[in-house]
Order: sequence, then structure tokens, then C-alpha cells
Amino acid sequence: MQFDAQWLLLALAPVFLACIGWEAWHLSRTRPRPASNAPLDSARYAWPDTLCNAALALMHQGADKLAWLVAVPVYAYVYRHCRLVSWQPGLVAWFALFIAQDLLYYVFHRASHRVRWLWAAHVVHHSSERLNLSTAFRQSLMYPVAGMWLFWIPLAMLGFTPEQIVAIVLVNLAFQFFVHTQAVGKLGWLGYVFNTPSMHRVHHARNARYIDRNYAGVLAVWDRLFGSYVEEDAHDAPDYGIVKPLASCNPLRATFHEWLAMARDFARMPDWRSRLAALFAPPDWCERHDALGLASVTAPATPAGTRYGVPENNTEGEFGSRNR
Ligand SMILES: [Zn+2]
Ligand SMILES: [Zn+2]
Repeated sequence: MQFDAQWLLLALAPVFLACIGWEAWHLSRTRPRPASNAPLDSARYAWPDTLCNAALALMHQGADKLAWLVAVPVYAYVYRHCRLVSWQPGLVAWFALFIAQDLLYYVFHRASHRVRWLWAAHVVHHSSERLNLSTAFRQSLMYPVAGMWLFWIPLAMLGFTPEQIVAIVLVNLAFQFFVHTQAVGKLGWLGYVFNTPSMHRVHHARNARYIDRNYAGVLAVWDRLFGSYVEEDAHDAPDYGIVKPLASCNPLRATFHEWLAMARDFARMPDWRSRLAALFAPPDWCERHDALGLASVTAPATPAGTRYGVPENNTEGEFGSRNR
């Protein structure tokens, strides 16, 4: 009997649940329960947050199964008619597939923070103010609508079969489960090669120096290569979540709040250029647009050499996606 890769994440569910059980037990032993008036301990499990994460995981799994029904025939068509390379079955082909997909994941993930259409789906993953292994389950059923599956089409052009593509996408996602924890410190030299919990804690933080950094899936090299790497600093503990807190553990609200906000912005924009920008510009474009409009009323002109009234030397991080 052949194993269908589409079931990989469900097949691994017992492993994931065992790890969550271990982490919850470990935290209960090593971190004292905070007093009721103490600040939130972002590592600890809370039932409303964990149940929301579990519901989001199930919704995402259902949407993903439907999405593969559309995506797999597209990959098959591209593989049959447009592929540039043919691989001998074996380890070399799988290694090439792993590297290519991980690079495409980096591109997808970075775009998900810089293009609002994609951010509307990805924000779900970032909208909890806790970070533990259950946060990995926090995914959006809207990824297929946002177009995540389109990012893997180049793999079919590179000569990989739809089955291989589905398998490697899910292996990448399965690996990332293990980086969502505060129970593991820095991992030394491994951090030069692989995405680690420390690296991914930075990615989930909304501190000004951490926001929109460390996009890695499995390999850490892409962030170092493309200038998006930031080291976790013991003196600047990550503050998890989005800048405008969701303040809800309702999975439907988590899934659709940014889509609704984007639709409202689209509707209120005065012309088509602005409407398209409300969908496809960086997530904070509308706020910059509004601020610029106000500034033009109260100030004579925007200073030369700036875009959206923001000094040019601002990094994308300082006005990053989680300003939404
Ligand atoms: Zn992200
Ligand atoms: Zn994450």
C-alpha cells in the first residue's frame, strides 16, 4: 500500500500532540504559574488560545485537502508540458527538490509579510500573543484563496512531480512545528544551517528590531543571504503577536478579520490605483496613505527623498506588516 503524502500532517498528529504534552508538562515544572495580576507568560498554554489553534489547524487541513484538488492538476499540466529538467529518481532529485522548495518557501513567506493580499491569510499565524508548540497549528484556511499553491508551480517546471511537490511542502511545514517553542534555547552551530526555535521566536515578535525578520522555513541560509536575519537578543525579549492585537480567541475572527479590514479599505479608496494598492501593497500602505493625506492638509509638503512620508532610511521592519 502506497502512502499518500497529503495525509502526512495528520499521520504525524500523534507526534505533535506528544510534543505539546511534553512542553506543557515541562513548562508547568520550570515556570511558576503567574499571579492573576502578573503579565501574561507567553510560553504557557491557555485553553482558549490552544483550542483556537486546534480549530484553526483543522479548518486549514480541510481547506488544504480541497486546494490540492485544484493545485495538483495544475502542477501535473505544467510538469507534462512545461518542465525544463527531467530527474533520475533518487536522493539527488529529492535533495534538489528540498533546496528549491525551501527557497520558494522563503520567497512566499517574505511576500506574505509585504503583500497585504497574502498577509490577510498569514496574519492568522501571528495573531496570538503566546508562542508554544500549539502556535504552529495556527494556520489560515484562506491560504488557497491567497494563492500559496501558486508559489510551488516553478517546482513542476523544474521537473518534479505533483506527488513530490505535495510531499516536500508538507515536510517543510512539519519541520516548522518544532521551532514554535520557548522551551529550547539557542542551538549553537545548528542555527547557521537550520531554522531554530530562537530564530523563529524573533520572527513571531513585534519588537521594532525583530518585526518582519527571519522568514526561514527549514534552512537558515536564506535569511543570512538576503539580509533578513536578526539574532535573538537576551536583553530584548520577544514580545509576541501583531501590533494591533486581535484580542479574540474566535477562530473565525482570527481567519477573516484582516480580509474584512482589507475589503473596507478597498471600498473606501477614491481611485483604482489606491484600491489595487489596498490589496497588493505592503500591509500598512493604507495607514501611510491616510497619514500622508492628513499631512498634506496640515503641512506644506512631504520632505524630499521620502516615500509615504517615511524617511528613506527606515527599514521595512520599522513599518512592517504587523503595524496593521
Ligand atoms: Zn510569518
Ligand atoms: Zn511560526
